[in-house]
Amino acid sequence: MLEHKDTNSPTMKEDKARGGSRQLLRRLRDIMATGEGAQERLDRLVKIIAQEMHADVCSLYVRRAGDVLELFATEGLKSESVHQTRLRIGEGIVGDIAAYARPFALADAQSHPHFAYRPETGEESFHSLMGVPILRGGRVMGVLVVQNREESEYSDETVELMETVGMVVAEVIAAGGVVRRREQAPVDGLALKPLRIDGVQLSSGLAMGRAVLHRPLVPIGKMVAEDEAHEQRRLDYALAAMHTKLDHMVKTVDDAGGGDHVDILKTYRMIAEDRGWIQRIRDAIGTGLTAEGAVVRVQNETRARMAKVQDNYLRERLLDLEDLAFRLLQHLQESNANGNGQSGPTQADLPKDMIVIARSMGPAELLDYDRERLRGVVLEEGSSTAHVAIVARALDIPIVGRVSRILSRIEPHDRIIVDGNNAVCFVRPGEEFRRVFATSMELHEQRLAAYARDRDLPSVTCDGANITLNMNAGLLIDMPHLHETGACGVGLYRTEVPFMVRSEYPDVKVQADLYARVYEQAEGKPVVFRTLDIGGDKVLPYFQDQAEENPAMGWRAIRVALDRPAMLRQQLRAMIHAANGQPLAIMFPMISDVQELLNAKKALNKELDRAKDRGLSLPSDLSVGIMFEVPSLAFQMDAMLPHVDFISIGSNDLLQFFFASDRGNPRLDKRYEALSPAFLSLIRLIADKCREKGVSLSVCGEIAGDPLHAMALIGVGIRQLSMSPRSIGPVRSMVRTLDAKALEAFLAVNLDSPAHSLRSLLIAFAKDHKIFL
Ligand code: PEP
Ligand code: MG
Repeated sequence: MLEHKDTNSPTMKEDKARGGSRQLLRRLRDIMATGEGAQERLDRLVKIIAQEMHADVCSLYVRRAGDVLELFATEGLKSESVHQTRLRIGEGIVGDIAAYARPFALADAQSHPHFAYRPETGEESFHSLMGVPILRGGRVMGVLVVQNREESEYSDETVELMETVGMVVAEVIAAGGVVRRREQAPVDGLALKPLRIDGVQLSSGLAMGRAVLHRPLVPIGKMVAEDEAHEQRRLDYALAAMHTKLDHMVKTVDDAGGGDHVDILKTYRMIAEDRGWIQRIRDAIGTGLTAEGAVVRVQNETRARMAKVQDNYLRERLLDLEDLAFRLLQHLQESNANGNGQSGPTQADLPKDMIVIARSMGPAELLDYDRERLRGVVLEEGSSTAHVAIVARALDIPIVGRVSRILSRIEPHDRIIVDGNNAVCFVRPGEEFRRVFATSMELHEQRLAAYARDRDLPSVTCDGANITLNMNAGLLIDMPHLHETGACGVGLYRTEVPFMVRSEYPDVKVQADLYARVYEQAEGKPVVFRTLDIGGDKVLPYFQDQAEENPAMGWRAIRVALDRPAMLRQQLRAMIHAANGQPLAIMFPMISDVQELLNAKKALNKELDRAKDRGLSLPSDLSVGIMFEVPSLAFQMDAMLPHVDFISIGSNDLLQFFFASDRGNPRLDKRYEALSPAFLSLIRLIADKCREKGVSLSVCGEIAGDPLHAMALIGVGIRQLSMSPRSIGPVRSMVRTLDAKALEAFLAVNLDSPAHSLRSLLIAFAKDHKIFL
């Protein structure tokens, strides 16, 4: 099997490799079919692998508790070393294979700086080495190695075959009897202790319940096929069943009102047709695997690719493929179950208070869970723009993401608390802690109920200042919150969000329909449409440009729009069509100088002329505004203000540019404060200028939704705030207990302070004045 310099044609080479692969897999299948004990089977496995791969050595290392790899079986090394030779993960080449979960092939292993020589094995006479991780469900269960006396180059086909063999061996190990089951599962000796693990907030809210492992690892059973044609047919049936089920899901969501939900699912459904992916599974069946074995093989490849991919969009596509692989496996296993009368666990077997734990999850999978039972989700992966996070936020399901190694630290049915507000989860919390948390959950619920009751109360301070509370939105599924919260309108509609969840660029009609639906759902309340703010961390899948050194300060937002005028004009045209004679408010993002605004307005005027020429109804009232996100604007206020109807301060970006502090860098998180005298002074300067010139001003960054920050903003002259829907209630309660004049006077004397932050002063002020924070 080893490919040494071969002059055969590539097809002959492939055929030969396939033939060899089938023969080896068949022999392994025969071993698995015997009733022998685990050790005997492993001994025979390594012998056959060595023979079939023309290797002088084949050794199998199994991962044991404490992150140790133990030599369990060998053909070719000294037999005394079995169960004696142990390496830590990351120690030696074998340890590296486990640590990086990827194959290594070296013609001269001994000269490699990581080679760890173990005299008891007698491996000094073998020069070349190739090893692969033994993977199951993304977890490394061991390492399989072949060695040769001579310096040999291992071909890609040989490495791939070893990976396939590694999968078969993984099933032998998982089937039991090799190491205690407890050693294979959770790790770190932490398994039963209570744990607190931090993550990132993907969807806020609180939940407590029992852990359900998403896609528990079901033993695959048969990995090696008896009849290739039969396996290809089984794959066809399973693919068809999966496609039908996804179609049904798309239709159900569509019938229930649709919106962007459907687009997300449709993209997912399209990926399920990915020809390259399906062909790779077919090819893997061609090497002698069952349909299940082939899906797992391709899934392992996907994971390996994912580990190398940095690009967010590509990672999400790969995650989608991983999700689909699990779906496909389920369908294949259902077809087995139908054949033998068995079936897996159903939703009815799941706890009534589920917290689903997963490495990653697709939006369709989230919708698969019974909404009545699903309380929260914890993910090892995930970003706030991932589809699952967008859907969860709309459905009010708390999610904490990027929780390191949660799957290996939790057992099914363990108790777990998900605190989406503080991006933390507590595994196996003690009884006392649960009681305390249950009380805060209850209070939280009561508060939410109170906010809902108070939604029609005026947002006026006790000294009579009217504070307009608007809501930020980005998807149609956000719109019902407008009425539930009693927000005055949408202060920031992020138009890029619907663009980000689509698989292709929406044309004018699609955009116009979308904005028309926003109007419809706003039921007459005002909406500010922000033109595309792409670039930075907001990547459009179909709009790839070169990677940038510093994307936050790169080619983004209005800079892209002015360089791609057709794109900007199409969006403006869609907005004019959608307004259809109603008032229209348009806001341009990331304006850095007056000329940029004037150029953007020129594009708008051309579109208005075009609409007039075509006899379309023009907006009954047109207001044009800008996002204040770049500090340079502070020095152009007099030149800028005559050209705008309103300004909205995008404090997320403004803060990062003001303090030169990356908003996405966790090491700088909270280092600089919006409550600093410097930043509050800047806001006051903008507010004073706008008041003087009669230009409407609001703040729409994250700080607008935090009661303490919102209070400080009012104290420096802000009268309009736009925030995420769930912040409206808490901010309204704060406003109604605030004396704005007293706070303004208090801040006026403190803005010159050399303090890093006025936070503690403001908290003390709130306490003294009984302000509801
Ligand atoms: C901001 O920068 O504050 C803002 C609202 O824009 P985004 O968060 O979408 O960049
Ligand atoms: Mg911004």
